[in-house]
Amino acid sequence: MLKIAYHPIYTHPLPEKHRFPMIKYELLPQQLLHEGTCVKENFFAPKTPNSDCILAVHSKTYYKDLIDQSLSSKAVRKIGFPLSKELIDREVIIADGTIKASEYALQYGIAMNIAGGTHHAYTDRGEAFCLLNDQAIGAKYLLDQQLSKKILIVDLDVHQGNGTAEIFENNQNVFTFSMHGAKNYPFKKEKSDLDIDLPNQTEDIEYLQILKATLPKLIKEQQPDFIYYLCGVDILATDKLGKLSCTIKGCAERDRFVLQTCKDLSIPVMCSMGGGYSPNIKTIVEAHANTFRIAQDIFF
Ligand SMILES: [Zn+2]
Repeated sequence: MLKIAYHPIYTHPLPEKHRFPMIKYELLPQQLLHEGTCVKENFFAPKTPNSDCILAVHSKTYYKDLIDQSLSSKAVRKIGFPLSKELIDREVIIADGTIKASEYALQYGIAMNIAGGTHHAYTDRGEAFCLLNDQAIGAKYLLDQQLSKKILIVDLDVHQGNGTAEIFENNQNVFTFSMHGAKNYPFKKEKSDLDIDLPNQTEDIEYLQILKATLPKLIKEQQPDFIYYLCGVDILATDKLGKLSCTIKGCAERDRFVLQTCKDLSIPVMCSMGGGYSPNIKTIVEAHANTFRIAQDIFF
């Protein structure tokens, strides 16, 4: 059974100017139910996790200041939107969604989170709308619980996973792989274990060639027993922030390749959604829905 983390708080309204791409968190589950890709039972509601799980990744000072809403105005500016208790609760619950989905992935081979992919959150600070790094929290949880020995993070969001790279900089048990736009945010990039910088306007053929030449080799070398997949759909040509030129079909082929590789090698995979900023919400929902359709098709 495909287990998917979703909680009504995911759709907590943001300030007007940030609201648009966030509608996807409401529309995506509706679309999956409507078209029959998922039934109600596929979804589970995450809760508030034990704060130890968060503190295994984020510094005590940062987490306390975040929860107390006492971060400096400079730190809040870096995050990019005004903080509220609901937004912080939302991020904490999304992190639990990723933890639980990681456990479900061990059971069923794959599990997903309707949100998450907040890869710009560092150990001691938030950045670019990311407060807590959900996949880093999931990865650390699996390692600490001895549910995994070696984790590979495959971050194919168009933006570099800078926070994730920093968090696992000195951790031999987590290999961070990020493939992203060279000329895109973050302009000062961190060093992942493997970074692939793509030029602007990279198209499907080139994108998929690089991915197909890299991922199986990487898995062979690193021998992960668990994979996190950050499947942002901001690689689309229509994306307002992306700068790459992939099609919806190419994006789906990317997802199929990653998920089929995990399935073929029997490596459990947990997927967080990441970014998507095409001007037409239908494009965003369609591209994300493809990841769920493909997961159902391959695994169940
Ligand atoms: Zn992104």
